[in-house]
Amino acid sequence: MKRFLTTKTLSHKLCLCVLVSLWLSIPVLAQDRSGSHTTRVRATMSPEAKASVEEAIGLVCTQAKLDPKSSVAIDEMQARPSLPLHSPEARTGAERAQRLLPLAKTLVITALRQLSTEYGFEKSPRFKLRINQAIARVNLVKRVRPDMDSRDNASVYLSRPHVITFGTIFLAGLRSDEGMISVLAHELMHIADGDNDSLRPLVSAVGNKASELTGLDVHGQRGEEITCDLIGAMAARAYVGDTPGYESITRRLARSIQHNCVEIDEGDEDHLSPRNTIRALLALNPALVRDLINDRF
Ligand SMILES: [Zn+2]
Repeated sequence: MKRFLTTKTLSHKLCLCVLVSLWLSIPVLAQDRSGSHTTRVRATMSPEAKASVEEAIGLVCTQAKLDPKSSVAIDEMQARPSLPLHSPEARTGAERAQRLLPLAKTLVITALRQLSTEYGFEKSPRFKLRINQAIARVNLVKRVRPDMDSRDNASVYLSRPHVITFGTIFLAGLRSDEGMISVLAHELMHIADGDNDSLRPLVSAVGNKASELTGLDVHGQRGEEITCDLIGAMAARAYVGDTPGYESITRRLARSIQHNCVEIDEGDEDHLSPRNTIRALLALNPALVRDLINDRF
């Protein structure tokens, strides 16, 4: 899997993050588990729910154009020249990321517990142990390291699991606390999963549900990425709920996912395309759809 590669050079152009180990790849086939101890009926979406998701996508990507603090789209970030470490935008982003890291950790832990309950894993003592170990890994993260060469990526090297390496273009492109918390939470969820994919049953369950709801293929690494995105969106939504402000809820929530409002919408084996990422994310998170639609301005 990508996360076991020894370099970050293979991180996909559309991936905003890659978890990198300096260890050699360990065969993971033996760990492949279906997560089949969750019993549920096949997930479906009503035509109304589908229409609500599409409406919410429209709102998110409209805000991307209107909001001065909107997150820059991934394809636009990729097209930008490298940004020096000491540029004002990169420094502002780095300060924002470091300031929000402790809060993001707390929000991720809450979201992870919530998601485990939602997917029926709370009764499994074995999975509870895995969750506790995942939380311990999240708690060890201490620092964001700005890096010019990482450009529009954020990475975690498993040999240094207490540091999130963040490209300066990416730091500058996330212009709001909501956007930053969402991406920090995404990275922290990779760290929670760890180098042994310890949360695989949950990740597979989320990926399977996303596949069923959307008809898209969200298995394998795609499942992990969408789970990280989901934790990111949940963390940002909790943050918005905890910190009332004068800005509209829609605008603030949109910031957590609008880096996916691209013009060039391409995916690959490991990633849904950015716009399909929003679609799957919203299909998995009806509460976010409701909040986006119900409070526009
Ligand atoms: Zn990721």
